[in-house]
Amino acid sequence: MSVHKATGERMAQDRYSELKRSAEERRREIMKEVQGKIRDGRSEGANNPTHGVLDAAETSESDIQDDIEFALIQMKAETLHKIEEALRRLEENTFGYCFECGEEISERRLRALPFTVRCKDCEEAREVAQQRERVVAQRRGAASLFMDMQG
Ligand SMILES: [Zn+2]
Repeated sequence: MSVHKATGERMAQDRYSELKRSAEERRREIMKEVQGKIRDGRSEGANNPTHGVLDAAETSESDIQDDIEFALIQMKAETLHKIEEALRRLEENTFGYCFECGEEISERRLRALPFTVRCKDCEEAREVAQQRERVVAQRRGAASLFMDMQG
């Protein structure tokens, strides 16, 4: 019987339950926050007496605030998605391996980003691709605006 092997298995088990616990905790937190924000947003819009008498500057300021809130909710939703993905992969016993290329994700990376499902290379490639998509979408948006002005 190998002592090292037993220790390794126990560590893996510990890491699994610890990760699962923290993922579930984080998921609960985020859901509570997001639900709270959605509720706040609704009640603010419904009974805000100053609504409608704001001047243009104030209106756009509150629009920006709404945009920030929305972006935050979206970011949290993305994190939530990542956590769920990580939990699912934990169940399947594929956690710790890159979703794209199947390579083992480094211990260091997992420590820094406990819910990551991609290795560094694949994550970077994905970010570059997303950035490119955003630029294309922006250009398309600008082009259609220009078309509207023409029409
Ligand atoms: Zn990869």
